[in-house]
Amino acid sequence: RVAVVGAGVSGLTATKCCLDEGLEPTCFEQSQDIGGVWRYTEHIEAGRPSLYPSVISNTSKEMSAFSDFPFPEDFPVFLPNAQFLDYLQRYAEHFGLREHIKLGTTVVSIRKQPDFATTGQWNVVTEAGGKQTLHVFDAVMVCSGHLSEPSLPLHSFPGIERFRGQYFHSRQYKHPDVFQGKRLLVVGMGNSGVDIAVEASRVAAKVSISTTRGAWLLSRVFEHGYPWDMVLNTRLMSLIKTNLPRPLSWWLMNYKVNQRFNHENYGLQPQKSCLVREPVLNDDLPSYILTGRIAIKPGVKEFKDNSVVFHDCPEEEPIDIVVFCTGYNVSFPFLEESVIRVENKHASLYKYVFPAHLQKPTLAVLGLIKPLGGIMPVAEMQARWVSRVFKGLCQLPSQSVMEKEVNEKKKNPVPWFGLAFDEVLKTEWVVYLDTLASFIGAKPSVLRLLCTDPWLALTIFFGPCSPYQYRLGGPGRWEGARQAILTQWDRVLKPMRPRVPAGSSSSF
Ligand code: NAP
Repeated sequence: RVAVVGAGVSGLTATKCCLDEGLEPTCFEQSQDIGGVWRYTEHIEAGRPSLYPSVISNTSKEMSAFSDFPFPEDFPVFLPNAQFLDYLQRYAEHFGLREHIKLGTTVVSIRKQPDFATTGQWNVVTEAGGKQTLHVFDAVMVCSGHLSEPSLPLHSFPGIERFRGQYFHSRQYKHPDVFQGKRLLVVGMGNSGVDIAVEASRVAAKVSISTTRGAWLLSRVFEHGYPWDMVLNTRLMSLIKTNLPRPLSWWLMNYKVNQRFNHENYGLQPQKSCLVREPVLNDDLPSYILTGRIAIKPGVKEFKDNSVVFHDCPEEEPIDIVVFCTGYNVSFPFLEESVIRVENKHASLYKYVFPAHLQKPTLAVLGLIKPLGGIMPVAEMQARWVSRVFKGLCQLPSQSVMEKEVNEKKKNPVPWFGLAFDEVLKTEWVVYLDTLASFIGAKPSVLRLLCTDPWLALTIFFGPCSPYQYRLGGPGRWEGARQAILTQWDRVLKPMRPRVPAGSSSSF
């Protein structure tokens, strides 16, 4: 019996993977419906992520799909949040997940049973309608996400207490009309900051973004109009990134991201050009900077009554309203700190999933990772691995080996991301997926396929590393995987090409 905490992206796929392995999942969801971060509500609910209605997915539908459930072909390539939710609802219906989900049920605490060292069992206390219930579970999958608890580090902003304008965290943001005619400062250049600045600049009198570190800016519409992740997340690119001598691969990455515009000229160049933080995805920002609708500023030095002073800038800039787009804290209020310790936004987890020090591997955390690529296939792969570990079909290394790896990761963050506040949550997408897939015997062998199915092998190696690749063989093999890979570009084209002029080609 497995308790799954949360019915968002990770919780849904966790429930499905448990069922695939013949386990008995019970998924507890505190809110009134499934979908997690993708379920938009106009009102902000405590303990839940809060979206603004204009959010569109940053990763394309082919690279975000669960591996045995492609998005409908008529869905757009990058999905507005309502369509993303629609997909998750279809997934839940298709695999019969709803009957295993208890809505309106909050997990209050998860504690080891007294005989945990031998049974690995957990006492899980839930609350629904004001009534608490104690359950005993053999294992737990924590799928509660990391976008619910805003990080508002006001102590880093001297003078904020005397600032007379309005300020709030990006979690509070819903609609741009609050910025009508105002001079706005957005603090933090993550995806929320840039989205909000772009939207606000259509109605505000003036918009500035303050960034301490800068960021690479990628466009959803990438080289030749292809979706960015279908170009960058290929096995070939991954091989190049991880095997070329470091200076050469950095030069290549610098060259690629600066092809559309020179980041230095736009004031966006990351602090140390050889270290990359999570890139920001936005198609509008460069042209908004070029047309003066948005100004990029350095970090905030201090706030005054009605203005802000930036580092290395003598003048004060008058502002009326500040949005702190300063991200989120990771926390597990229902767990004891001895189970998962979070320090500097880093949770010590083997492969970002298993606490390394437990006597029994019966608790796992899913989706606590920010790879440069779709999170859904990653959470699904984690769930496939975890459910096989719970079932006893996969073994984890010894505690000392796991702890050693976790500690080394802390010291040597993944080379492609270096400067981020939550840098250790990030990792190289294809490499990570392949690693977990190899644990469960689902990693595709390009060499073997080259002999048996050369066209598929070439598509897998040179084309996008779409999640269906991990259903070609091994446990959880899906009959439709080969076809899904070979038709992935058709599903990209379909919603974009209602009009095909006579004589033009019908595929990319
Ligand atoms: P975030 O990516 O964590 O960025 C927060 C930013 O706040 C930092 O990058 C930093 O910006 C600034 N910051 C944090 N602490 C600071 C401090 N003490 N002093 C000064 N600045 C500080 O947060 P987010 O943009 O809210 O995004 C959260 C997650 O949601 C991300 O994974 C993001 O990709 C995702 N998201 C996705 C979408 C989408 O799919 N369309 C939209 C929004 C968010 P500087 O270094 O620039 O100063």
